Amino acid sequence: MDKQSRLKIAIQKSGRLTDLSLDLLTRCGLKFSRGKDQLICHGENMPLDILLVRDDDIPDLVQQDVADLGIVGLNVIEEKRLSFEKAGIQPLFEQLMTLDHGRCRLCIAVPDEFKYQGAQSLQGKRIATTYPNILGNYLKQNKVNAEIVTLSGAVEIAPRLGRADLICDLVSTGATLTANHLTEVETILESQAAIIRTPLPVSDSKQDWIHRLLMRVDGVQQVRESKYILLHAPRAKLEQIKQLLPGSESPTIIPLEGHPDKVVIHAVCRENVFWETLESLKKAGASSMLVLPVEKMLN
Ligand code: ATP
Ligand code: ZN
Repeated sequence: MDKQSRLKIAIQKSGRLTDLSLDLLTRCGLKFSRGKDQLICHGENMPLDILLVRDDDIPDLVQQDVADLGIVGLNVIEEKRLSFEKAGIQPLFEQLMTLDHGRCRLCIAVPDEFKYQGAQSLQGKRIATTYPNILGNYLKQNKVNAEIVTLSGAVEIAPRLGRADLICDLVSTGATLTANHLTEVETILESQAAIIRTPLPVSDSKQDWIHRLLMRVDGVQQVRESKYILLHAPRAKLEQIKQLLPGSESPTIIPLEGHPDKVVIHAVCRENVFWETLESLKKAGASSMLVLPVEKMLN
């Protein structure tokens, strides 16, 4: 296949989203070898290559049609979208789906001794952030006049260095904030990773692979927590037992040879099946229970 017809997906080279993105692509069936400091990994069994770049560059690469797809946080997508808007550029990337990894939130956090009483407490303050556009939007919406101090990193130490009064930064567990004597007071954006694509038309074969990849990603996400459960149940207790199966839509019911009063239930549970669930099922009359991991799912 010629070079032009290979799909290119940009992911973060080294950071929080790297392993999660590579793991996702591996689970979608992609085989590739990754050398140290390599900027591009060629897919060995699919016409799909991985570009390894800084996460902040991903929307631009998709915008400039260097990459067809990208995996990046909503925080970066939103910041870029606003900065393009400000520059009068029509954002040329389209969000295809959100992923269940890279969850974090963009928060306003204040030094422990700061008396915060709502957005108006930010009036006239200096706020350090790497997200000036999202923060700017938030301040505008709340009719607050504050000075945005744009930094490229180490935002959490800005108040101690006297560069800002408070910060607006990404948080997942909050441990970094606590370590820096900061308290979270507002969430201004909930974020998770997402797949974006160029809205420019691509060849039919590329389009077909985008579609197949998205179907596989969907399948991978669905099976993460899913379990396949098999059990025997008294016919008379069928309804009660169906109710106890966590997150299962329509289990398959099969007669049990030689036991007219019993059935076999097969069900996909969309949530983890815990010992407590099995104990309740047993109490309700279920027996011969088997819980299996689900490896792949395609709807
Ligand atoms: P790069 O060198 O690629 O620019 P970076 O330092 O900007 O890396 P990381 O800290 O690796 O980026 O974070 C990448 C993304 O991971 C963030 O943009 C965000 O979407 C997500 N993320 C999840 N949890 C957190 C967190 N606690 N702090 C920061 N980012 C997080
Ligand atoms: Zn970055």
